[in-house]
Amino acid sequence: MHVIILGAPGSGKGTQSAEIIKHFSLKHLSTGDMLRAEITAGTELGIAAKTVMDKGELVSDDIILGMVAEQIKSTDKGILFDGFPRTIAQAEGLDELLSEMDSEIAHVIELEVNNDEIIERMLARGREDDNEETIRNRLEVFENQTAPLIEYYSNQSKVSTVLGSGSVDDIFSRIEKVLSA
Ligand code: ADP
Repeated sequence: MHVIILGAPGSGKGTQSAEIIKHFSLKHLSTGDMLRAEITAGTELGIAAKTVMDKGELVSDDIILGMVAEQIKSTDKGILFDGFPRTIAQAEGLDELLSEMDSEIAHVIELEVNNDEIIERMLARGREDDNEETIRNRLEVFENQTAPLIEYYSNQSKVSTVLGSGSVDDIFSRIEKVLSA
């Protein structure tokens, strides 16, 4: 079973992903974590990605799809995609990669959190790209480039919207219901 967790930056995708992979024994694939690992390792890709990430913009679809393809091909477990896809081009690329393996996305979990709560959470988290200006840009990028994926996957009847506020356990039990159905 392959699952996508979709939500604005700061909506709690990473926190819920940790719970989901434990309970459903999926492999966690976070493109944000992969990019941060490249930055830490000081690779050429990491150096280029950092400039883009610090501005709150998106790393190019080609780079992202290349990284993801490598990961998909190296596992036969179900995958939880976190922070990916983020553009229609990435979603189409993912559909193509999976269909080459006679596979497809089973569920898309949309985590819904209001913008005030998101900004509050991100400022509290304090990651390097969590300053007010970058946050504002990331929310705008989300609205413009990533929110259209809801319609893309709704057309495939795969979206379940889950309220992303409350305790970690409350939110997880909402997600668990969807994935167990
Ligand atoms: P958040 O959910 O808070 O945005 P992520 O770790 O998912 O955190 O992403 C951090 C940054 O990494 C993004 O703002 C973007 O610059 C880059 N990034 C992560 N995933 C992708 C992706 N699939 N496509 C393009 N850029 C990405």
